[in-house]
Amino acid sequence: MSRRSDAVVIGAGHNGLAAAVILAKAGWKVTVLERSDHPGGAVRTAEATLPDFRHDLYATNLNIFVGGAFFAEHKDDLFRHGFGLAVAQRPFASVFPGESWAGVSTDQDEMLASIRTHSAADAEAWTRLGRWFGQVAPTLFGVLGAPMPSRALAKALWGQRRVVRAQWRDLARLALLSPRELVEEQFETPEVQTLMASWGMHLDFSPDVPGGAIFALLETFVAAGHGMALGAGGAGCLIDALVGMLAEHGGEVVTGAEAVQVLVSGGQASGVRTADGRSFEAARAVIANAGPPALMRMLDSDVPERYRRRSERFRYGPGTFMIHLAVDDLPTWRAGSQLRDYAYVHVAPYLGDLSVAYAQACAGILPPRPMIVVGQPTAVDPSRAPEGKHVLWLQVRVVPGMIASDGAGRIETRDWDEAKEPYADRVLELLEEYAPGIGGKILARHVISPADLQRANPNLVGGDHLGGSHHPAQHFLFRPVPGWSRYRTPVDSLYMCGAATWPGAGVGAGSGYLLGKQLTG
Ligand SMILES: Cc1cc2nc3c(=O)[nH]c(=O)nc-3n(C[C@H](O)[C@H](O)[C@H](O)COP(=O)(O)OP(=O)(O)OC[C@H]3O[C@@H](n4cnc5c(N)ncnc54)[C@H](O)[C@@H]3O)c2cc1C
Repeated sequence: MSRRSDAVVIGAGHNGLAAAVILAKAGWKVTVLERSDHPGGAVRTAEATLPDFRHDLYATNLNIFVGGAFFAEHKDDLFRHGFGLAVAQRPFASVFPGESWAGVSTDQDEMLASIRTHSAADAEAWTRLGRWFGQVAPTLFGVLGAPMPSRALAKALWGQRRVVRAQWRDLARLALLSPRELVEEQFETPEVQTLMASWGMHLDFSPDVPGGAIFALLETFVAAGHGMALGAGGAGCLIDALVGMLAEHGGEVVTGAEAVQVLVSGGQASGVRTADGRSFEAARAVIANAGPPALMRMLDSDVPERYRRRSERFRYGPGTFMIHLAVDDLPTWRAGSQLRDYAYVHVAPYLGDLSVAYAQACAGILPPRPMIVVGQPTAVDPSRAPEGKHVLWLQVRVVPGMIASDGAGRIETRDWDEAKEPYADRVLELLEEYAPGIGGKILARHVISPADLQRANPNLVGGDHLGGSHHPAQHFLFRPVPGWSRYRTPVDSLYMCGAATWPGAGVGAGSGYLLGKQLTG
């Protein structure tokens, strides 16, 4: 064995790093192995188009992180190590055909005025739903912030017993509702319905998938209450801060170190072997910030057949497609210049379009008209581009991981490496309908296909940016494998964290935090 630590973490995603920081602060000697040449996984900022244009290549919205327990406990250290925030007070909007739009902002009057342009009744329903959300939010956050299941979860629910007793029927129903069911029950206009339901598509919830309403509701009202938090200068400042905190407590990140085997002796994980033949000994824990199928490939040792089978068949959702643009100016939105102030503009446009795009992607069909999330980070944080210039973050939801056919009948190839530029052209053509002249503002572009996502980070199988479907049968108690939602595995001292574990994807450091606490508590 070449190096000896208390814990070896496989993968420097932000969850692996968060767990490593907690262990290192508790006095453990920690080594984090990262296969690529940089830490951060799906959180990375880079000058991907032109010099001085800083793009969040993957995640950009840090709302879950700043609402989470890791941030609450470590924020002073994070800021000391260079973490910073730029918060959008106009977090998101939706545009519709013609000049119609609706926007959510932290200014309640402004937001309701925007909704009222569609329907006074919807503005009232929005206020009512927001009030109800305010009542149940502590319960929902209590559930999302506790190990699943756990005494802490029971305690959180007990602490909220008055709300739980009064609201349990509505809460249980919310957990089952699809985004469409929620918004069609609440709102009469397709615009206000889509404004909220679009958030389901940030996960793998098309309007019709049961269980997706809760995420649409949470994302909407958290943004309405607090805006949208972006990393100052780029989300990568979070990773720099985590790596700095780890180093301060004696831990290290070894890049260019791909774990290929978890070493097991006497039924206990004892270390990790890397592709280049190095061995890293772990006296107390091996932590995999990797997906279940990948972990199974690293494990020669006996694990119950049922566990192995479930891990190998862990389900991934449809893919994501990213376009990063360096632009001369922000889009000229047909619906009005006020849209330039919003952190995200959803080009969906309606529930039916989302349902169709989702079904197409699941069937391997390149959607002719997918949903586009247009991120305008420089509207909030101008430091990411040279003066007067901007970057745009375009996330396309959803596309197939493997192409079977093209819904528009124009792209012949089935190979993402060949299809990605023509598909990016299609997305930009679609955007042109809502933001005329956008093509003429582009200085450079960088396109990331689902295949690129998986090559950059093997956790993103088929370009699933969530690292595994969040449909109810694979979430809550069932993530990653029923019976193993508390980060343990059947091998002693081998643990998992990351998007494939509870509470799932997103930059929240939830699983890294909960595992770190479990091991040091
Ligand atoms: C395009 C995109 C946009 C997103 N947008 C948002 C957003 O705006 N807001 C949000 O909250 N979330 C967003 N997400 C989701 C979020 O970024 C992820 O859920 C989260 O970052 C996953 O973190 P993680 O800790 O599980 O690890 P990951 O980020 O998956 O990182 C795991 C790391 O482990 C490494 N690794 C894997 N296998 C091995 C191995 N065998 N040996 C060594 N290293 C290994 C990988 O290289 C990687 O660096 C987005 C994701 C993507 C891809």
